[in-house]
Amino acid sequence: MKDLLEETKTIMKKYGIKANKDLGQNFLINNEVVENIIKASDISKDDLIIEIGPGLGTLTKELIEKAGKVICIELDKKMIKILNERFVNSKNIEIINEDVLSVDLNELIKLNKKNENINNVKIVANLPYYITTPIIMKLLEDKLDIDSITVMIQKEVADRLIEIPGGKNTGAITYTIFYYCESEKVMEVQNNSFIPEPDVTSEVIKLKLRKKTVVELENPKVMFMIIKSAFMQRRKTLLNALTNTQVFASKQEGLKILRKLNLDENVRAENLSIEDYAKIAKEIL
Ligand code: SAM
Repeated sequence: MKDLLEETKTIMKKYGIKANKDLGQNFLINNEVVENIIKASDISKDDLIIEIGPGLGTLTKELIEKAGKVICIELDKKMIKILNERFVNSKNIEIINEDVLSVDLNELIKLNKKNENINNVKIVANLPYYITTPIIMKLLEDKLDIDSITVMIQKEVADRLIEIPGGKNTGAITYTIFYYCESEKVMEVQNNSFIPEPDVTSEVIKLKLRKKTVVELENPKVMFMIIKSAFMQRRKTLLNALTNTQVFASKQEGLKILRKLNLDENVRAENLSIEDYAKIAKEIL
């Protein structure tokens, strides 16, 4: 742990870097955590790795050893200068100075799959926590041609993402993740594994994209809209929540649908399986 701490401090001092809290900059200084992220990512020479928020390049250094190519997407110009100088001799790295949320990842992947000897694409990142959810939603909703997403995020968010629908941490996003991925916890990470220390405990999770989604729907967006509406008023019964948010045209209509699907009229948002929500989506279409 000491060497990575020393290395990080040296780079920060050399470039006069003060971590920018607004950009979620918490730099990893724990070797064991780096090793575990790399191991869980399961990288080989025909992989393209897209790293979001490389920062000073701590994970990047390991990624370029293992992967065919690494594309880093970093918003902070100061980090770009460091990355360019640090990896000047590496042939298999491309550094992009942009907000990851505005990058056309589909286009980037298509281009690289055509030009390089790339078979699989994997996302690896210690994410900026202020935009964890938008980034993960983008990675899933853009329907990217990727194998897996291995990311460090806040433990509280991680617990909700990797929960199985119906568990105690279930939220609307649990269903989205479950629809697209098989998920697993890699490890919990204590605050002192970073400088500066974040205010929250962290967790590394791995999301493996399913080849086939768990339910088949022409337009899954409708199902996700229903789930979101149900969870917006999660203390109410599903019937009331979906009537109040006008998913059901009326309470009578809602009751009819619940009865048809053999669902109790007092059921709540988190009691439904993804199959139940898919059936409701089919009924209201
Ligand atoms: N990977 C480094 C590490 O593990 O030490 C740094 C991780 S730090 C938690 C998050 C990184 O994401 C920072 O370098 C930050 O500048 C970058 N970042 C923040 N917002 C971003 C955005 N919208 N697009 C791309 N990178 C972003």
